Amino acid sequence: MALFKSHLNTKVMNQPLSEALNKLMSLYQSRKHPLDYHNLYQLVVMVVLSAQDSDKHINQLAPSFFETYPTFETLSLAQPEDLHSYLNSVRNFGNKCIWLTKIAAIEKALENLPLDLPSLVQLPGIGRKSANVILREAGRPAEGIIVDLHVLRVAPRIGIAEGSQPEKVEQQLMRLISKERWGEIGMAISFLGREVCRPTNPKCEVCVMNAVCCFYNGTHPDNRIFSDPSLFD
Ligand code: SF4
Repeated sequence: MALFKSHLNTKVMNQPLSEALNKLMSLYQSRKHPLDYHNLYQLVVMVVLSAQDSDKHINQLAPSFFETYPTFETLSLAQPEDLHSYLNSVRNFGNKCIWLTKIAAIEKALENLPLDLPSLVQLPGIGRKSANVILREAGRPAEGIIVDLHVLRVAPRIGIAEGSQPEKVEQQLMRLISKERWGEIGMAISFLGREVCRPTNPKCEVCVMNAVCCFYNGTHPDNRIFSDPSLFD
């Protein structure tokens, strides 16, 4: 049974696409996540805050938050309302304050934070994308592939996934890409989306994926991704 509809990149297991993915990964290999965190506690807090908000915004407000709440221990003593004055410019801050205080109450200390995907996604406010980010930044073996808004835009353009549901796109990528690449490929595609494959005016001429990209090579029939870029940024 064919895994994908015919417009998807059937060259995925072929040499050119494999080489292009290797090139992409080596370009961004081990590059730190754009969230400006200094330890895993800060990363967890910032990953929760950055959902549906921008990394830049979270980087701006994080220092004053961490001055008051530098550890899980200090955060575990807070009520959600105590965090509002620091975080009220964050999208969905009410729920995020509840989630952060709950996570802190559960973990109480950084050494209690579980570093495996099934346990991380049990924590409030942490889905698969966030858990995959935490595992990558912690240097743990990948158990999935990071699929953020950039990956949701870029992977269908390349032709290695389709649809707009992150978990479905992740499953497609996990079936197509060998496990040893899982830890880096999601962030590599995300960095490509941030720097090269922007919603409008993607820099295809300088893109390392252009030789195999379905969109660039005119084999992708879906131009909607350019007609409504606000959906993807
Ligand atoms: S070739 Fe163009 S459309 Fe394809 S991934 Fe690169 S920048 Fe995006």
